[in-house]
Amino acid sequence: MAVIGVLALQGDYEAHAAALRRAGAEPREVRRAAELDGLDGLVIPGGESTSMLRLMEYYGLMPPLAAFGGRKPIFGTCAGAILLASEVLNPPQPSLGLIDMAVERNAYGRQLDSRVARITDHQLGGGELEAVFIRAPIIRRAGAGCRVLATYLGDPVLVESGLHMAATFHPELTPDDRIHRRFLEKVAAWTQAEAR
Ligand code: GLN
Repeated sequence: MAVIGVLALQGDYEAHAAALRRAGAEPREVRRAAELDGLDGLVIPGGESTSMLRLMEYYGLMPPLAAFGGRKPIFGTCAGAILLASEVLNPPQPSLGLIDMAVERNAYGRQLDSRVARITDHQLGGGELEAVFIRAPIIRRAGAGCRVLATYLGDPVLVESGLHMAATFHPELTPDDRIHRRFLEKVAAWTQAEAR
């Protein structure tokens, strides 16, 4: 069973741990760099990216997380996607730069800042995807290395890039575990490739 860390500094890490368990992995909360040891992959949850960033900097987690992402898969959702991006707008802020993409924070504006959307344009197989957006960012530019796995209103909302995956919505808040399973497939493929 894959052991997947969930960065547990702030945000909805408990919902991710439950979703990972449903999808067949063993979740482990991560608050310190040493807790990254022995993980097969990591989830950075949604929440408030500025607060998470402050805590990451306070605990000296930026270099170890960047190094982890050089070797192992990371899945970032909403604030987690912002933290994985190479460029953050509105306002600019530091990030791990593990996915070549530009994200604009809180980009859906006030009236539409939170909603449940039905996504039909996706590559996960099966029917439409229910996506919970909460003060979500918009991926304004997805680099050449990004594979867009789902779009909503014309913008990418789920992307894959090398080892990593990012969603601008909250797949941990719906019972549909297709997206977590997709991440676990990446983790399994990577673990096998590494063992060869
Ligand atoms: N608005 C938050 C941010 O900019 C992200 C919201 C979320 O993760 N649901 O960090």
